[in-house]
Amino acid sequence: MADTKVRGAPAEALPNPAQAVVRPARAHVLLVDDQPGRLLAYEAMLTGLEVTCVKADSGSKALERLLERQFAVVLLDVGMPDIDGFEVAKLMRRHPRYGRTPIIFVTAADASELDLVKGYGLGAIDYLSMPIAPEVLRSKVAVLVELHERRAELEVVNSQLEAARAQLEAQHEQALAERDAHLNAVFEHPSQLILVLEAMRNEAGAVVDCVYRNANHNAKTFIARSRQALIGARVSEVFPERAQRFFEQCTQVLSTGEPLRYEAELPDGRALISTLHCAGRDTLISTSVDVTDRRRAEAALRDSERRFRAMFDEAPVGVAYNAMDGRFVYANKAFCLMLGYSEKELELRTWQEVTHPDDVAGNLAAGRQVLDGARSYYTMDKRYVRKDGATVWASLFGNFVRNDQGEAVEGVAMVIDITERRAIDQALRDSEQRFRLLANHIDQFTWICDTLGQAVWCNQRWYDYTGRDPQGALGAAWQAVVHPDHIEHVTTSLHRSLASGEPWEDTYPIRGRDGQYRWFLSRAVPVRDGAGHIVQWFGTNTDVTELNRLRADLEAADQQKDEFLAMLAHELRNPVAPIRSAAEVLAMGLLDDRHRSMVGIIRRQSDHLAHILKDLLDVARITRGQITLQSDTVTIASCIDIAVETAAPQLKDKRQRLTVEHSREPLRVRADEVRIGQCIANLLSNAAKYSDAESDIHVRSYREGQHAVVEVRDHGIGIAPEYQANVFDLFYQAPRSVDRGQGGLGLGLAICKRLVDMHNGTIRCRSNGIGQGSTFEMRLPLDEADEPAIVGQRVGCSRRVLVVDDNQDAADSLSTFLQMKGHQTRTVYSGNEAIQEVLAFGPEVVLLDIGLPGMNGYDVAAKIRGIDSAIQLIALTGYGQSADRRRSAAAGFDVHLTKPVAMEELEAALLR
Ligand code: ADP
Repeated sequence: MADTKVRGAPAEALPNPAQAVVRPARAHVLLVDDQPGRLLAYEAMLTGLEVTCVKADSGSKALERLLERQFAVVLLDVGMPDIDGFEVAKLMRRHPRYGRTPIIFVTAADASELDLVKGYGLGAIDYLSMPIAPEVLRSKVAVLVELHERRAELEVVNSQLEAARAQLEAQHEQALAERDAHLNAVFEHPSQLILVLEAMRNEAGAVVDCVYRNANHNAKTFIARSRQALIGARVSEVFPERAQRFFEQCTQVLSTGEPLRYEAELPDGRALISTLHCAGRDTLISTSVDVTDRRRAEAALRDSERRFRAMFDEAPVGVAYNAMDGRFVYANKAFCLMLGYSEKELELRTWQEVTHPDDVAGNLAAGRQVLDGARSYYTMDKRYVRKDGATVWASLFGNFVRNDQGEAVEGVAMVIDITERRAIDQALRDSEQRFRLLANHIDQFTWICDTLGQAVWCNQRWYDYTGRDPQGALGAAWQAVVHPDHIEHVTTSLHRSLASGEPWEDTYPIRGRDGQYRWFLSRAVPVRDGAGHIVQWFGTNTDVTELNRLRADLEAADQQKDEFLAMLAHELRNPVAPIRSAAEVLAMGLLDDRHRSMVGIIRRQSDHLAHILKDLLDVARITRGQITLQSDTVTIASCIDIAVETAAPQLKDKRQRLTVEHSREPLRVRADEVRIGQCIANLLSNAAKYSDAESDIHVRSYREGQHAVVEVRDHGIGIAPEYQANVFDLFYQAPRSVDRGQGGLGLGLAICKRLVDMHNGTIRCRSNGIGQGSTFEMRLPLDEADEPAIVGQRVGCSRRVLVVDDNQDAADSLSTFLQMKGHQTRTVYSGNEAIQEVLAFGPEVVLLDIGLPGMNGYDVAAKIRGIDSAIQLIALTGYGQSADRRRSAAAGFDVHLTKPVAMEELEAALLR
């Protein structure tokens, strides 16, 4: 209502009956009398009163006057000729306008009883009889005029009041309409669901249900019920699930009168915030807003906040937000860790305080550029000072967070600790420097070339040696100093490596500044990037001129040694044979025990010596590739038999028990029976040697896939694991105590290994260690063809063969063999004879021993070639090294055979 007052007309503007001075016009008095004199007399009597007298001398005239205006009082003569006073009064009373005008009747005589009654019945107020006392008349009129004036005044006031009341009512009405409009506007607020409820209570006053009394249009959208459908319905029907809780809330609100705010969820999942107001004894108003979107937005914001947190808190880079005054607002773990402060500690500081004093200005300037809009962000390497005082180098990415108005409100920095990287960079620079220092001072040339073989860097040594400057050395210029004869293979081999990525190695002469060439071993390895791609090659050249010379010397010495050993063994065998024979002869004589034992010593020791010499010769032959296998299809069993036979005396000496277990099926191998027998014998002999007397030794053969296996096992001293790989090395002997010395030169297993290799087989040893015995396993490929061995009986063409050898036995036996094979032979024992026989016999083939006394084999061959170039010349020699073969080929020999000659090989040569 206060509202209406302000907006409507102000109360002050209304006429105030108390204040307004109402002055109606002068009161009129109607004087009615048929006697003009009396009229004048009345008028005279009334002089002095503030009235205007209107005179009428008849009843009709009086009525005319009455129509013209209002009179305060009518003085009416009763007895008039046309219409008498009563009649006039009667007519006046009938007219509403004069119904209440006071009338004073004037009668000539005393009014009769009847007249009085009649007069008063007509509403007369008074009677006056003639003669009239002027004071009486005057006072009576004055009273009535006064009365009339008062009434007139009242009427004015009344009408004013009426007008004011009407105005107020109109204003009130309008205000009410406005208020309704406002209330309606509030009630139909588009975002609020408003419900008016009437509570139903039980005796205890608790709300047990509510009836909807009103609802705004939003009911439709909020709870899918129209206002019409809702009005009269009960909450217990509309929201059965939530009703009970709601009634409790209603009870609370009605009892306390305090509004209650709560959150509710609609069955469709939307969220509401509702307020329940008390609006009367049993009336409640519920207002609700739909906050689903807000809740979702809040949840989304929380999610995004959480995501943001999760990302930044655990990010491997340091992240910090600073207020514009530099204060830390937020710093993630990585940042705190980097600076050694807790987040709380940082929040008490500014970035300027934790930045190295020398870097603050630079950082400010960089940030200023972004603030000025010159750049959209900034990056810099800067130093922080850790809590412990240490300096941390960081790579910083900086920017600002701006508000909706585009003003920067916070600075954000992402930093990575690069202290280590800088240290590494420094270390790299240092190491690069050291590398250059080293590269320039080592004896080798070092260089780097690109993937096309173009030199990009060479060390000082290279320039010093070649006498070239960088212009004359880089790129492909290095080729200019390579010896012309080598340039082709050097570039070829280098480019092969560049293409394949394999390390490069080549040896060739390079010209020095003095024009002299020296030999260099050149090597290069690829330098790869992180992805494994070759980016460069790093190379060295090592001067091997001296090394080459030394190696050549060494090779020559080695060859001399080999030759010496071979010759020594060869020569020593000659005296051993007669010693042995002499001992045999001596043994046949009559000897006393002492001499018999001496002869025994000579026999055993000369046997031992012969054995060693045989091994030495074997080694010499094997290293020279002079051993030729007499391969045949043989059984493993026969090889084992040979071995057992050979080793038997040794086993017998030590009273050792040998068990031999042959495989059930015959194992056929393509092999030199004697050589394989020799190998197995060697294993047996070792087993005997390195085991106690009276111990057990086992030999076993079996098939394993495509291989035949021979296993020799003993219970002897065993071999320590670290030596098992070495036992097959030449001259190798496992460490042993002096008292257990077993003699030997460490040749046996080396020979075995080489012979087995030559048979495409393998040999290995196993032992669980010292004192655990040893097992040796020899493995040879099975001969699947399984053909029976062809011995002799070769059907082929017959040849005319001249055999030349100063060793008459050898010559004769060879000749006999060839004859048996169906060839025609002649045998001579010297070079001269040979030449004569070539002329006389006309051989197709000459088998010529090189080591002839007098004219040697080479000279003889040259002569024969002079006589007949078509003759096939076959060299027979104890020397089978490549140099020997080259020499025999140069002398005109077609074939070079080493002694002892394998008959198959000889036959193959003859059939060529
Ligand atoms: P050696 O002439 O010394 O026997 P070998 O070549 O036959 O030469 O053997 C080399 C070494 O291997 C031997 O000196 C010995 O130390 C070790 N060896 C060979 N066979 C056996 C075995 N059956 N038991 C223990 N050690 C063995």
